[in-house]
Amino acid sequence: MHLPPSLFWFRRDLRLIDNPALVAAADGRPVVGLFVIDDALYGPSGDNRRAFLRRCLDALDADMGGSLVVRWGDPAEIVPEVAAEVDAGQVYATGDHGPYGMARDERVAAALAPSGRSFIAVDSPYAVPPGSVATGSGTPFKVFTPYYRVWQTVPAVAPVAVPEVDWVTDLASDELPPEPEVIAELPEAGEAAAAADLDAFLADRVDAYDDQRDRPGVDGTSRLSTHLKWGTIHPRQILDRLGPSVGQESFRRQLAWRDFYGTVLNAWPGSARDNFVPKMDALTWDTGSEADERFAAWCEGRTGYPIVDAGMRQLRATGWMHNRVRMITASFLVKDLHIDWRRGARWFMDQLVDGDLAANQHGWQWTAGTGTDASPFFRVFNPVSQGRKFDPDGAYVRRWVPEIAHLGDKHLHEPWSDPHGAPAAYPPPLVDHGVERLEALARYDVVKATASGATAAAG
Ligand code: FAD
Repeated sequence: MHLPPSLFWFRRDLRLIDNPALVAAADGRPVVGLFVIDDALYGPSGDNRRAFLRRCLDALDADMGGSLVVRWGDPAEIVPEVAAEVDAGQVYATGDHGPYGMARDERVAAALAPSGRSFIAVDSPYAVPPGSVATGSGTPFKVFTPYYRVWQTVPAVAPVAVPEVDWVTDLASDELPPEPEVIAELPEAGEAAAAADLDAFLADRVDAYDDQRDRPGVDGTSRLSTHLKWGTIHPRQILDRLGPSVGQESFRRQLAWRDFYGTVLNAWPGSARDNFVPKMDALTWDTGSEADERFAAWCEGRTGYPIVDAGMRQLRATGWMHNRVRMITASFLVKDLHIDWRRGARWFMDQLVDGDLAANQHGWQWTAGTGTDASPFFRVFNPVSQGRKFDPDGAYVRRWVPEIAHLGDKHLHEPWSDPHGAPAAYPPPLVDHGVERLEALARYDVVKATASGATAAAG
């Protein structure tokens, strides 16, 4: 009997292995593999992510023997159109839990309905799907540690093998998106590259992960964020290979942070732009030409604080930044330059090849003291002591800020203190951290006063 094909719509799961939605689509039927270039997502992506996406699609198409169908347009039009073109039975995809993705999928399901076709979402990009872990009273967690306790009790699911797929090959495909020229050196794309990166991390670095993960000058983390972002690897495939060592346990915990932020964004979609803690709306931010100049100096890595500049330059040169330095640079923008976290988050999303709305917005909110787990606003990172503590031998700063590489360890993180005078090629500090710390705290006092005034008025 000739069965109608399934339509499989690839989104953030650009792989064939361990793809339960693809397994469901391929259940005895031919499959059309579709990727839609949706301007609503593609338009705002920075060039680094566009270039990387192009490479992921090339790799996926090659793995599918050249049968990937690419179409440009609004998925709510394209998906029903392609389904009708091939007289598909149903449409399958991996579930999406972000604000845009959920609304888009509802539109696609509604557009398919008149033709009698269903949109079937299977699985998610997370180890523990958003919505499946809740507090005792059934509400989503707002704090990581209790979330993690429950997360750990969720039974592990084994990865699934690549299914036998009879790809439909005779469909017209639009051109793949052009690869923009980028200055950043991007990692290799595709699921084979992701698997190789995981193998290398597990073989060489995972056992030292707990000791090394906060050292930006050491290649101590997995660098899997980019593959996770695009779904060229699923967290299941990683968790399945982790054992009980301290390093592996610490790494598992970081993967749970990814799930946690996915869960928080799913439960509170507005947290992509609004302060998660509403009382922080009373915080004031600097705007205007001086703030713009400071913002530009931050983006370009010329604040005069070496660890901040090293991070911002690493971001430009590679589309990636070490986690510790993401926190330091974000803190500097918010608490030393008093610039709105949303502005910094936008710059990160423009540059990061692993740019992910949930992890990025909540990483920023955490650092800004406006988010979950409320890292208290009054804990202000000192860029000099952070540099000394986490880059003690200066390997990171020397790599990314070569104009001060000659300084000894003692003065590297505060070049203005060098007895030979500050190096001429490097800018003086943009602001005085001691002064700006007090300014940040004074602004926070206003937030506290506003909040307690509101409580008193309510009482
Ligand atoms: P590893 O240390 O090897 O961690 C393994 C995996 O765990 C990561 O690949 C990532 O998927 C997950 N993970 C680790 N730390 C976190 C975290 N704090 N939050 C969520 N997931 C985490 N991560 C992104 O993937 N995309 C972003 O856009 C992003 N923006 C961030 C912005 C700020 C201001 C901050 C403070 C953090 C941000 N992070 C983001 C989280 C973290 O910095 C990166 O996931 C990590 O640096 C990626 O490197 P890695 O794969 O080597 O991490």
